[in-house]
Parts: sequence; structure tokens; C-alpha cells
Amino acid sequence: MEENNIILTGDRPTGPLHLGHYVGSLKNRVALQNTGLYEPFVMIADLQALTDNAENPGKIRQNILEVALDYLAAGLDPEKTTILVQSHIPALTELPMYYSNLVTMSRLERNPTIKQEIKQRSFERSIPVGFMTYPISQAADITAFRAKYVPVGEDQLPMLEQAREIVSTFNRIYKCDILVEPQAILPDNSSCSRLVGTDGGAKMSKSLGNCIYLKDDEKTLKQKIMSMFTDPTHLNISDPGHTEGNPVFIYLETFAKDEHFAEFLPEYQNLDEMKEHYERGGLGDMKCKKLLNNVMQSTLAPIRERREEFSKDKGEVLNMLRKGTAHAVEVSNETISLVRKAIGIDYFNDEDFINHFVNI
Ligand code: ATP
Ligand code: MG
Repeated sequence: MEENNIILTGDRPTGPLHLGHYVGSLKNRVALQNTGLYEPFVMIADLQALTDNAENPGKIRQNILEVALDYLAAGLDPEKTTILVQSHIPALTELPMYYSNLVTMSRLERNPTIKQEIKQRSFERSIPVGFMTYPISQAADITAFRAKYVPVGEDQLPMLEQAREIVSTFNRIYKCDILVEPQAILPDNSSCSRLVGTDGGAKMSKSLGNCIYLKDDEKTLKQKIMSMFTDPTHLNISDPGHTEGNPVFIYLETFAKDEHFAEFLPEYQNLDEMKEHYERGGLGDMKCKKLLNNVMQSTLAPIRERREEFSKDKGEVLNMLRKGTAHAVEVSNETISLVRKAIGIDYFNDEDFINHFVNI
């Protein structure tokens, strides 16, 4: 069997993409794409976004283009990566129908990410069935493309575990090996696997309103950084401060390079020296935020500029989505044929089945 280097990931079009997406997954996708060793698929997960936004499809519709522009701005190249729209891939609505018979309710209810998301959305018992079962649909997304690698943030690990279980149950029950067990590719740095929000909250998330978006303009970015949470016990400049759990330092750890110090704050050689000063006392939050602003502006400026370039020809972006989606339909339909055959419901292409009728 030929080596499987297929990658699949996606994002919900519930808003433009933010720094959490960038460090958690997008940066890895671009790096993997550029090695030329993989066959990447990246999906705009509008069906998944509908699971908790059914009454507000306008929001999803509006964000398809936003997410597509963020992809291109971050460096995804449609010549190397297939970018697709989930709702237009028939396999992605058919496979969950088969898979949902292989998963129990109690297994779904045990999923820690779902538990937390239900709490965050205050669903209580009125959870839309589609939301509760989105891990099954996500298993369909991955397996439809027979993807082996899934670059994601830490919050997605329970989804991948669930997908692997579905794969092994399917292959066991239907005595085949057509579905591929996927594995996560996490960022190497733990602060990237789950980037905190600007409010210091556990996760930067569109739904929590604590995001810095890739498309934020210079002024908005600066405002968000200047009003970020820091160490609540660091009241006076001379007080010793805490860098651990302090979002300003978490972001510096994630984005600042030694070159940034040479350029913007040469009194320190690197972040360790700066952290030491903050912890000792005598370094104010304002100075730290100013450095972070410079670092972020220089990191995001090229992405912002590319986004503006791509925004000039939105028709071209739409064509790119149409083409990527068409390719994805072809690839995933092959999986559907294999799956129907494995289950034994591919009646009209099944010689044995046809002969049975003819002989009767
Ligand atoms: P929503 O609030 O609508 O769920 P979200 O901000 O959680 O949106 P998703 O579209 O659910 O974003 O996530 C897409 C991808 O980005 C996933 O791989 C997820 O792991 C990753 N991701 C999202 N937020 C973060 C974060 N704060 N840190 C690291 N990775 C993240
Ligand atoms: Mg999410």
C-alpha cells in the first residue's frame, strides 16, 4: 500500500480566524503544506457551525469568505492544499448516518470537550442533537478523505480519540481495513496547543469574545493588547510580578523572538532576562504591553497585507473554493463506494446481489 500522507483539518466559519487558530493549527498546516510531502485538505466546517447556530445561518454564510481569506493570508496555497466547503460534500452527510450506529449515547456524553462546550453555551438539556453528535460528523470529515494526520489544538484530542474508535469499530464489524485511524499533530509548544484569551481565560475562542483576530487592523490590535489582563497582584511597578498564567507573558513566549528584543527592547537580550526583571519587581505592565504590541504588529502585518491583496479579487477566492470543493467531492465519493461495499449495501454495483435477483 502506498504511504498515506493525507492531512485534514478545518475551522468553523463562526467568525474570522484568531491567534489561537494560527498557533494551534494554521501555522502547522502551512509548514506541512510547504514541505511538499503531504496531501492536505482544509475544510470550512459550515455544517458543524450550524449545529449551534441553526437560527443564524446568515452568520455562517458571511464568514465563509472571511475564513477563506484568512487561510490565504496565513499562507495556505490552493495549488498545494485543497480548500473545501463541508456542506457541499455529500459523503460528509452520508457517513455520519452509518457511524452514528456505532457510537453509544453514553460515549458521546463522556466527551470532555463536548461537556465543556455545552456548559459554555448554557445548553443544559436543550442541546441540539446535531451539536451532541458533531464528534461523529467530525469522524466522517476525517475518514472521508482517509486522512492520517490532523493538525489541531489540544481541545480536539477527544474528537480524534472518538474518530479512532469509530474507525476501529467500523473496520472490525465490516471486516475491512478501508478506514484510516487518524492521529493529531499538535504544536510543539504547550501554550500554542491552547492559547489563552486576552482575558486570561482558558482558551481564546470566537464564542467567548476574547480574541485577537488575524485581520484586526493596527489600531484594534493595539487597543486589545493595551487592555489585556496581566498579573492582578502586580499593582505597583516595584512589586514583584508573576509571569506564569499572565497572558501578556504567555503571548510573548508564543510570539517573541530574540531578534524582537534587539529591535524593540534592546535592554534585554531575550525573554528570560525580561521575565526575571518582572518577577523581581521594577518592570511595569505598560512596557511589557508595548513590546508585545510591537511583536504582534510585526508578526501580523504581512498576514494583514496579504489579506488585503486577496480581498481585491473575491471572485477568484470563490473560484478557488468551488474548485477545491469539486476535488474533495471526487476523493470522498471513492470512500463512500468503499464504505457501502464494506457494509454490503452497494446493491446496484454488487454482482452477487444482482445475480441473486436474476436467478430467482
Ligand atoms: P468556536 O468558538 O466557534 O468553537 P473556536 O475559536 O473554538 O470557535 P474552532 O473553529 O472550533 O475555533 O477551531 C478550529 C481549530 O483551531 C481547531 O483545530 C482548534 O483546536 C484550533 N483552536 C481554536 N482555538 C484555539 C486556541 N485558543 N488555541 C489553540 N488552538 C485553537
Ligand atoms: Mg471550537
